[in-house]
Amino acid sequence: MAKEILNEGIRFITGIGEQRAKSLKKLEISTVRDLISFFPRDYEDRRKISPLAEVPDGESSCIKAYVITPPRLSRVRKGLDLVKFRIADNSGACDVTFFNQSYIKDTIKQGGEYIFYGKISKNGGYTSMTNPLFEPSDKGGTVTGRIVPIYRLTKGITQKVLVNSIEQALKAVREPFPDILPEKIRRKYGLMDAGYCYKNIHFPENPEALGKARKRLVFEELFVLSCALGLMKNTNAQRAGYVLEKAPPDEFYRALPFELTKAQKRSLEQAMGDMVSGKAMNRLVQGDVGSGKTAVAAGCIWFAHRSGLQSAFMAPTEILAEQHYKNLSELLGKFGVRTILLTGSMSPKAKKTAHESLEKGEADLVVGTHAIISEGVKFKNLALVITDEQHRFGVRQRAALTEKGNSPHVLVMSATPIPRTLALIIYGDLDISVIDQLPPGRQKVDTYMVRENMRERINKFAARLVSEGRQIYIVCPMIEESETMELKSALEYAEKLQTQVFPNLRVSHLHGKMKAAEKEAVMREFVAGNIDILVSTTVIEVGVDVPNAALMIIENAERFGLSQLHQLRGRVGRGAHKSYCVLFNGSSSQEAARRLKVLCKTNNGFEISEEDLRLRGPGDFFGSRQHGLPEMKLADLSCDMDTLSVAQEAAKRLLEEDPELREPENLQLRDRAFELFEMSLH
Ligand code: ADP
Ligand code: MG
Repeated sequence: MAKEILNEGIRFITGIGEQRAKSLKKLEISTVRDLISFFPRDYEDRRKISPLAEVPDGESSCIKAYVITPPRLSRVRKGLDLVKFRIADNSGACDVTFFNQSYIKDTIKQGGEYIFYGKISKNGGYTSMTNPLFEPSDKGGTVTGRIVPIYRLTKGITQKVLVNSIEQALKAVREPFPDILPEKIRRKYGLMDAGYCYKNIHFPENPEALGKARKRLVFEELFVLSCALGLMKNTNAQRAGYVLEKAPPDEFYRALPFELTKAQKRSLEQAMGDMVSGKAMNRLVQGDVGSGKTAVAAGCIWFAHRSGLQSAFMAPTEILAEQHYKNLSELLGKFGVRTILLTGSMSPKAKKTAHESLEKGEADLVVGTHAIISEGVKFKNLALVITDEQHRFGVRQRAALTEKGNSPHVLVMSATPIPRTLALIIYGDLDISVIDQLPPGRQKVDTYMVRENMRERINKFAARLVSEGRQIYIVCPMIEESETMELKSALEYAEKLQTQVFPNLRVSHLHGKMKAAEKEAVMREFVAGNIDILVSTTVIEVGVDVPNAALMIIENAERFGLSQLHQLRGRVGRGAHKSYCVLFNGSSSQEAARRLKVLCKTNNGFEISEEDLRLRGPGDFFGSRQHGLPEMKLADLSCDMDTLSVAQEAAKRLLEEDPELREPENLQLRDRAFELFEMSLH
């Protein structure tokens, strides 16, 4: 059946042997479907034939011309053969040279008419072409006369290999080409069928066909994603949850050392409402850095504990876990909550003790890292699972945690401010509470954009702050092209600072290549106050709380997204000390300066993210790294935002009619949606 062919490995395609299959794997191509979904990164239009005289110097073009001299082979030196001849059309003439393709001497016939495709060089009155593609003018259509796809390549894989393999793969899929979009949706939104679109996205008949193919495939991608998120939401919505005993939240409020903000209270009360409803809670608490999300989490734990039930709190790193452990055990101890820590680096014996107390119910709350979802951890009655900084956890990991208990309530907390349009899709499977207010008395972090000429002043300022007992972060941008260069940047820069600029201060560094344990060790020293200046790429942990840090210096700030800069800035200003953020602007563009000034003007994460979206488009928000969402192959949300809303709407409608996509016409869609998150099919 056609559908099975798509899931077939690529080895059965002629021309793909073991070696090529290996190389293709590097492009994440292992099945026929991967192959036909490997979309071109660009196209070359080789349909239009131009008169020689009209092609500008340096441009690639198709020329239809007669060969007017006999092709001549000459050996310039050993290992270098040339075939040369002259061609002409009505408008002019051109010399053609082929290097090391001596067979062309016998292929090309004087007096014959051919179509040539290649770059035309014009030097004074002299026109030439080197190694053009060509074919007889009466047999065109293979290398010329069509729109040709250009693919991203890897070692051992050429354009030709991809073109041939994809052509074969498309032929191997027998009609009717499997289509995951139900026909009524295609009709309603004016979308072409899958067979047409997969053919035309690779080998478009004309630009209109390419446009139609792209329109549908982008829609498909966003639609499948929306359906997957919708399905998750529906599944969760049906999930029955522990019904907790009602209680007045004041009981909790009174025990706090501070008065909660209105927004914190609202979020907690929404969560409490979920937890008495009979359905399992599935809620995101979104709040800017420092908005006090932990207190909301603590309230939920208190609430579960009141009903005699256990909670788990999962943080993305050991340091964060330890911090939360310390804060939560202190705060919740007042209510008799017994809190334990569970992290990967604990000794087997300590882990075993922790496991036992959870299983026996001797602990009410476990705070930890991924270790909590590892095999072997059992709970007596886990009713609530909280994850901090949820974008660091994949959607899948969240699912693994909920499987631990008997359908526990789930609360996720994120500090990444996301514009509403995008929040809808990124958190499409969750209900959302927003903490849109900071606790009173919070000091503003003074932010300055400076240029290199301020370097000395800033260094002096930094030294002064350290002499007053403060600590400093310096962040260098990650250099994406080369990880080794990234390593060099933080490391070398730290060395230079230590030896040349701050010989008397304690400078240390962090970079992405360090092992988790090494990173943790450095962070721990920084938390303990044993490091004055920490130089780092962006690996400094989200959410780490070092209240003594009062200055954040960001090098080449123009290379960061505004929201990311805002996150980084959130590492300072967490204590009683007046704090500062210095953005070194290494760019002379006005645009960069304008962007960075947004940060100097406001400390409000949501305002900044809206501005970021407006200035840069949503690409930055939408990487799988940040949110645990799959990467999009074709859809580019900086220009496909409209399609996103249409696709979301369509998915919503469809799920209203068929909440689990179990109708026969929707089954393929269901499969794909589940695959997208590698969820098991229940
Ligand atoms: P985040 O939302 O970034 O996780 P935290 O929960 O770590 O923020 O809170 C940041 C700091 O603010 C903590 O030291 C916390 O004790 C304090 N805090 C939280 N809520 C309030 C409040 N309503 N009033 C005063 N301080 C608060
Ligand atoms: Mg936090």
